[in-house]
Amino acid sequence: MQTLIITGAAGFIGSNFVRYMLVRYPAYRLIALDSLTYAGNLANLADVWKNPNFTFIKGDICDESIVNNLAQNADAIVNFAAETHVDRSIATPGQFIQTDVNGTYVLLEAARKHELERILHVSTDEVYGTIDEGSFKEGDALEPNSPYSASKASAEMMVRAYHQTYGLPTIVTRGSNTFGPNQYPEKMLPLFITNLIDDIPVPVYGDGHQMRDWMYVTDHCQGIDLALHHGVPGEAYNVGGDNDRKNIDVVHLLLEYLNKPETLIHHVKDRPGHDRRYSLDVTKSRKIGYTPDTDFESRLRDTVQWYVGHQEWWRTIKEKDQEYQSFMKKWYA
Ligand code: NAD
Repeated sequence: MQTLIITGAAGFIGSNFVRYMLVRYPAYRLIALDSLTYAGNLANLADVWKNPNFTFIKGDICDESIVNNLAQNADAIVNFAAETHVDRSIATPGQFIQTDVNGTYVLLEAARKHELERILHVSTDEVYGTIDEGSFKEGDALEPNSPYSASKASAEMMVRAYHQTYGLPTIVTRGSNTFGPNQYPEKMLPLFITNLIDDIPVPVYGDGHQMRDWMYVTDHCQGIDLALHHGVPGEAYNVGGDNDRKNIDVVHLLLEYLNKPETLIHHVKDRPGHDRRYSLDVTKSRKIGYTPDTDFESRLRDTVQWYVGHQEWWRTIKEKDQEYQSFMKKWYA
């Protein structure tokens, strides 16, 4: 495998994945395809921009001609491109179906036409829905509860069909809640860290006892890399951090690290369809070499420090991006 198309590469995980792969595979050529929605940010790619093995193309994964043009000279696709914010999917679900479902179909069709060696679809643990106890295994039913997770699960169904029907060498990864540098500050962790830096209250949904599995972004990249190279075509792989924490407990750690008072916690009305608990069994990924970093507290501290040290990055979004401001104002009104 030598030329990879990385879609959604200007976003949070995609940009970290590009950085990870350029170091790990110096002989690979990476072609980043990103339409630069509100969540895409070229600043996330500034440090790799001049790397001779990296090319950026501004384009939509739903655009068949761009995708086919790139696919004819590529060996594999790794698909990060998606609408990703659950709250936005509740407010405006249509774009999620367009990008996450239709866009995935366009990529699958190009992979079939140009007989690519691999297409890896980056999915989420949210496709399983909620679980009271125990952990999800890859063979469990998909029972998504939000328009976001339903769009991701729908895309997975197309991926599965392309493997079953056409023998396309597909791989799916189902990642858990990911955190680290470059995450758009509408998501819980960067929103809360950046609010706390400015002594602005953090909006905690309901009682805050929703349980999530938290994974540092380079672990997510490692899991995708391993599944891409060692996964069995047609299979799905859970990629998680083995770190189940309640949201409210994570908020308390942030207060501690930033030395802020509990009075900054503001409980707000829970969002509709909010899953209570996600948990992943990552045994299958461990069998192909996956070793997540389980030192959650250290990685969380690093992440807090990153946002403390990169204020221009997030202030440009929070203070100057009207799209960001109008969504946040409407959503939390
Ligand atoms: P993100 O919102 O930060 O980035 C998404 C990127 O996709 C942006 O750069 C955006 O410009 C691009 N994009 C959107 N629509 C596009 C289109 N039609 N054509 C081309 N590019 C388009 O998202 P993220 O958090 O980095 O997530 C990346 C992937 O990982 C997504 O598929 C998401 O479902 C999955 N995932 C995320 C998490 C998480 O916790 N963040 C966990 C599991 C899985």
